[in-house]
Amino acid sequence: KDTYTQPGTSPNTPNTLPYESAEGPRMNATFVTLARNSDIWEIAKSIRHVEDRFNRRYNYDWVFLNDQEFDDNFKKITTSLVSGKTKYGTIPKEHWSFPEWIDQSKAEKVREDMKAKKIIYGDSVSYRHMCRYESGFFFRHPLMLDYEWYWRVEPSVELYCDIHYDTFKFMADHGKKYSFVISLYEYVETIPTLWDSVKGFMAKFPQHLEKDNTMGFVSDDGGSTYNHCHFWSNFEIGNLNWLRSQAYIDYFNHLDRDGGFFYERWGDAPVHSIAASLMLKKEEIHFFNDIAYYHVPFTHCPTGEETRLKLKCHCNPKDNFDWNGYSCTSRFFDVNGMQKPEGYEKEQH
Ligand code: GDP
Ligand code: MN
Repeated sequence: KDTYTQPGTSPNTPNTLPYESAEGPRMNATFVTLARNSDIWEIAKSIRHVEDRFNRRYNYDWVFLNDQEFDDNFKKITTSLVSGKTKYGTIPKEHWSFPEWIDQSKAEKVREDMKAKKIIYGDSVSYRHMCRYESGFFFRHPLMLDYEWYWRVEPSVELYCDIHYDTFKFMADHGKKYSFVISLYEYVETIPTLWDSVKGFMAKFPQHLEKDNTMGFVSDDGGSTYNHCHFWSNFEIGNLNWLRSQAYIDYFNHLDRDGGFFYERWGDAPVHSIAASLMLKKEEIHFFNDIAYYHVPFTHCPTGEETRLKLKCHCNPKDNFDWNGYSCTSRFFDVNGMQKPEGYEKEQH
């Protein structure tokens, strides 16, 4: 690329720093962000973190999706920050609206009740469309069909450690399909009948259930009830072909029919997490201890000083949420018979 001089800068300042590209082939992968035009500065911050810690050496593409058209300002700024190709997609109306079987007045009544109870986003229509879209549609957007792997990034997230390897290649090489960095308990008020719907799905589609699954992560009684654990889906690295599989589509359609995205406020985090726990093999779900991450209000800071120093981490280990009583990560380790990282006891609180 030619260098050019930005207005107001010294003629000696090139417009790009010479970043060293990582060797080796690239995976068929992309970052993906759902955002509004008004999210521009918050997503700019996230991109800067992702680029500095990882993508400046890998140059993966970045797909942006929006229920409205992205404006030129959004495109200009994000394109300047992403080292790979940027693509901008508008979401088709059918994927961001009420399905015809939803009773509008029942849904409205629910929003009023949830507002009175001060349930977070309880009165929001757009938040419900967002959760439903992330649960069942983003992976089928035409721009996403070209890819096999995705990494979801939200506005205002931070990465605190260098990532020295290709996380997508890691997933492929180790037979992983879904991953997380933070897990926690869902607000019961937002998903009271989600598990009933899941049980309906399990009864109707037993062929989609994996025998060697992680049921123990989401249920303490072999599947009778939900324990509310979920992987926090604002961070995800995952396999798009899994989400596009008949098993996942049957699962999503079944849940969607039951209407809880609108009659309650089902989040895409429990929806993805339950799917992964029931339909993937144990070893297909990965916990990235070495990806240090923040999304308000929780932090994942790797346990183990050696890791933090080696990866030039700048998170405070005291902020690590993993071994806190509200985190489900300890349960994930137990269910999988995994050894907890050295020093975890000291971080329990
Ligand atoms: P929270 O993390 O649950 O508090 O929810 P966010 O406000 O971060 O929303 C989750 C994701 O969906 C973020 O990437 C937002 O930018 C995006 N998002 C939320 N609502 C809308 C919306 O109405 N339109 C669009 N295009 N994106 C949205
Ligand atoms: Mn968010």
